[in-house]
Amino acid sequence: MFRALLLEKNESFHASVQTLEDSRLPEGDVTVSVAYSTLNFKDGLAITHRSPVVRQWPMVAGIDGAGTVLESSHPDWKAGDAFVHNGWGVGETHWGCLAEKARLKGDWLVHLPSAFTPRQAMAIGTAGYTAMLCVMALEERGVRPESGEILVTGASGGVGSVAIALLSHLGYRVVASTGKLQESGYLQALGAAELIDRQTLSAAGKPFQKERWAGVVDTVGSHTLANALAQTRYGGTVAACGLAQGMDLPTTVMPFILRNVALVGVDSVMAPLARRQQAWNRLARDLDPAKLEAMIEEVSLDQAQAKAQALMDGQVRGRVVVRI
Ligand code: NDP
Repeated sequence: MFRALLLEKNESFHASVQTLEDSRLPEGDVTVSVAYSTLNFKDGLAITHRSPVVRQWPMVAGIDGAGTVLESSHPDWKAGDAFVHNGWGVGETHWGCLAEKARLKGDWLVHLPSAFTPRQAMAIGTAGYTAMLCVMALEERGVRPESGEILVTGASGGVGSVAIALLSHLGYRVVASTGKLQESGYLQALGAAELIDRQTLSAAGKPFQKERWAGVVDTVGSHTLANALAQTRYGGTVAACGLAQGMDLPTTVMPFILRNVALVGVDSVMAPLARRQQAWNRLARDLDPAKLEAMIEEVSLDQAQAKAQALMDGQVRGRVVVRI
């Protein structure tokens, strides 16, 4: 038997922590004991049923997990190995990790870097690993600390917080766009050199604006992303990974054809294993553990549902880890 946050949809949607039989675990070649999970934006959408994230019912929530392998028939994994899991449709089409046990595919799992405990790995989670993918995307397009300022939108959120910590550690001057100016102490401690009110970016703007950013990590989409593109300097790069404001992109071709701006899409869910490994190795090198600790709010499995609602209501800063 194992406890899990089960999402059910019959006539109506229902989420609750339930005790389930092991025999209900899905197909997979690795069975794991989950020590910690987390609440990402997508978990919030799924647990509150705000968006059609879950595509099979009933579903155990939780796109991320970290812990120990219990049983494996996969050649790369044996009982006792420490793992970290992100994405791959887990918590959407395959039972997830907001549960004491999960059955996953060995091909999905990353060996937990020795630099991290399972709790730290889940403080990073999909949000932090996506932030790393965004930073790598900027680097690969030649954005260097001396290139100029980097804008991070959705700054107080999970992706934004980790992006600020990583970029400032790497020597970039980071400007944080936030709706929570009251969190200025938190954002500055992570490494933001300057804060701007997100309202300055969130309304429709001109297609061409004063050049400012050498690079952008955008977690927000919609007008914010359009304005960020319109303010990006000649040859700059914008890494887009999120839609916290909206999934639309009301922009023009001007930044691309007159300023040579590149818009790079960043997906974490289906990223190949080698790319994941690379991102986790970089996180082990470039993420200051003290800054990571400052982002963490820890809750129990029983508190996860209420916290997911708070996340969707914009009342959470940084990263929520769920102690299983
Ligand atoms: P969080 O909920 O932790 O943070 C989102 C932040 O966005 C909020 O804290 C807030 O920051 C800002 N925000 C919220 N609503 C609005 C709004 N209406 N307009 C402008 N800004 C807003 O989420 P995550 O950081 O975990 O995820 C951020 C985004 O990235 C999500 O859309 C998520 O789906 C996406 N994502 C995509 C991934 C991928 O693989 N492409 C992987 C992980 C996440 P503030 O108050 O500071 O402005």
